[in-house]
Amino acid sequence: MSQIYPRYTSTRGGGVAVSFEEALLKGLAPDGGLYVPDRVPAIEPGLLQKSGGFAGMAARVLPRWLGGEVPEESLIALAEDAFDFDVPVVPLEGGEWNGVYVLELFHGPTLSFKDFGARTMARLMSHFLRGRNERLTILVATSGDTGSAVADGFAGQENIDVVLLYPGGQVSPVQERQLIAERPGVQAFAVQGTFDDCQRMVKEAFLDPELTGVRLSSANSINIGRLIPQSLYYLWAAAGFDEVVFSVPSGNLGDLTGGVLAWLGGLPVRRFVAAHNRNDFFPRFLAGEGDQYRDSVRTLSNAMDVGVPSNFERLRALVSEDEMRRQIRGAIITDPETLATMRKVYDETGYVADPHTAVGLEAARRYRAEARESLPVIVLSTAHPAKFPETVREALGHEPAAPARLAALWETPTSVLPLAPDVTALKEHLLVAR
Ligand SMILES: *Cc1c(COP(=O)(O)O)cnc(C)c1O
Repeated sequence: MSQIYPRYTSTRGGGVAVSFEEALLKGLAPDGGLYVPDRVPAIEPGLLQKSGGFAGMAARVLPRWLGGEVPEESLIALAEDAFDFDVPVVPLEGGEWNGVYVLELFHGPTLSFKDFGARTMARLMSHFLRGRNERLTILVATSGDTGSAVADGFAGQENIDVVLLYPGGQVSPVQERQLIAERPGVQAFAVQGTFDDCQRMVKEAFLDPELTGVRLSSANSINIGRLIPQSLYYLWAAAGFDEVVFSVPSGNLGDLTGGVLAWLGGLPVRRFVAAHNRNDFFPRFLAGEGDQYRDSVRTLSNAMDVGVPSNFERLRALVSEDEMRRQIRGAIITDPETLATMRKVYDETGYVADPHTAVGLEAARRYRAEARESLPVIVLSTAHPAKFPETVREALGHEPAAPARLAALWETPTSVLPLAPDVTALKEHLLVAR
């Protein structure tokens, strides 16, 4: 009997179900909705094994999702190439942290969990573009982690060019280095304007009739291609436990949606904790306070400063509101609480957490205090603390040790061009670069 693979439909119900290839290359559905799978592959217990490492597990699971469209050998090669780094599950030891585990998702090249999605998407896009004999330009506006993960993940991939816009002088020194490191097929532009200018330029470029000959894609957080890899590490972390709770530092809810896919496939997850900073749209929704638009506010965990999470629409399409409220707890952690948690966890266990992970840790601690159950709680660690040296210094009094990868960044050649905050200048580049 041949297996039935997922197809992808719009959250807004328009149009017919499409292949993964089409959902991946289009990004958004024609009716403006997000693509969701019409079924989720079952997670059989046999898949939850650690043999072969994370890449080995990914190679066993990815064919369940994509086997209908990508040959199994290609998926195995892809997993080994994309996930060539460790994914440790670190138990905390000390005081009330016993029973809490940190799933370190920051050992990829740009030191954040965004590497999982970007590296997988890049390889899958390149695979399909080769088959079609087409080229594509990824155009991203970034103020931080996404841009460097995309630049690095897509660099050197056949049939793909990357154009990166960031607000010059408005990202941290570490972030800037990560964005402008010289990479094959990638051009970074320091826009003489704000992040909003960068985003506007990208939007205008997508709508510009003169650019219809240039195939553009955004590779942003709403692409279905990110969610499948982001469901894999939930399986990896839960392997060996009967049942677990996951605490997920959240902004656009892409990471959490990956977990929900794993749970829908049958992974034994008692509950998810959606750990948010003061950008608390989702916890308030879960508490029954409606779903009105809110402006984002700036916090120490700035990769989670999202007013209205883009994957909320997708989550709603995947599970009913009742199910969502039963399965997901919300938590709101302020900046002072984030700093206090970084200090407390360090004092009690010796573990150095970045501000995003600290939001997840404090949400996990609260959950355990309230739920009166002794299940293991796995906190997703979304970034390496060395990406946020100033905040770590503020909390602990000293900066974290930088991994070799980050130290090496200061020695690598850079490549960046200035750009006026205007779509005309960007267009010139996109048309010449072809
Ligand atoms: C992007 C990001 C998040 C939030 O992830 P979402 O999928 O947007 O919820 C959390 N932490 C870090 C470090 C990030 O870069």
